[in-house]
Amino acid sequence: MKTAVVTGGAGFLGSHLTDRLLGEGYQVIAIDNLLTGNRVNIEHLANEPRFSLIEQSIVDYLDVPGEVDVVYNMASPASPIDYLELPIQTMKVGSHGTHRALGLAKAKGARFLQASTSECYGDPLVHPQTEEYWGNVNPIGPRGVYDEAKRFAEAMTMAYHRVHKVDTKIVRIFNTYGPRMRLKDGRVVPAFVGQALRGDAITVFGDGSQTRSFCYCSDLIDGIFRLSQSDFHEPVNIGNPTELTIREFADRIVRLTGSASGVTYQPLPVDDPKQRRPDISRARKVLGWEPKVDLETGLRLTIDWFRTRVTQPALS
Ligand code: UDP
Repeated sequence: MKTAVVTGGAGFLGSHLTDRLLGEGYQVIAIDNLLTGNRVNIEHLANEPRFSLIEQSIVDYLDVPGEVDVVYNMASPASPIDYLELPIQTMKVGSHGTHRALGLAKAKGARFLQASTSECYGDPLVHPQTEEYWGNVNPIGPRGVYDEAKRFAEAMTMAYHRVHKVDTKIVRIFNTYGPRMRLKDGRVVPAFVGQALRGDAITVFGDGSQTRSFCYCSDLIDGIFRLSQSDFHEPVNIGNPTELTIREFADRIVRLTGSASGVTYQPLPVDDPKQRRPDISRARKVLGWEPKVDLETGLRLTIDWFRTRVTQPALS
């Protein structure tokens, strides 16, 4: 049986990846310090003999028993309000933590996949974003802790590939949504869906003209799984190219939830990217991947999931 290590395995994407790997027949060892991850995301695996959780930070030495075929480095705070609240932890997990995870992959002779981000492109001056674009990041702004940690993680991953010949992959993840996001994690999908379901005003930041492109979690995980099986070492964008303004997105959520919520405007966070849409030509060509779940379908699934969390706060 193949063994995968998933750092951040109790997080939103880490737990979905864990489910996919178990479905593919892997044994999965999750490593998570539960800082922004949540035990609830993996509680359905309590009786799964092929799953185990090591509860620790990946900044500390990683002691994983036995053989490992692949390491997926998914650990990091990923919501702007989380990394603004946890700036030093965010930098440490992306730098020291990635170094540890790479060291583990090297020691075990395992493949390695780094979860990177569209934030590497910062407030992009090229649109849509191709992997060749080097980005427009403010290193000393409040978002810089996440963006630069992930850029460091990419550089370290390539260094381990070039120097130690580790079989590495880098995925640049664009905005992704779905069940298991925390209701209060501050990102736009849980924020708007929660507000709409409660009948509260929808908090649009800025004038709402900034754009994003939202990918449903199962599509994202499929892209990550395919990339991890490939022989490709350069970064690959995985995201859904359907782009809309945040104002349009608010209207969409109100309509799909059947809510009577209005919109209230709040200041735009510092360095909030004005536009974001992945160019997925590389993923199409190298992985034969493209998203399958359209926004309407994905949002309905997500809203259904959040509806139970809004009415039963103990679950979230
Ligand atoms: N946003 C918003 N209201 C909210 C939360 C977010 O208008 O309550 C906006 C935010 O300013 C950004 C977009 O929605 O332009 C996406 O924000 P998110 O935090 O989900 O992720 P980002 O793409 O900025 O990393």
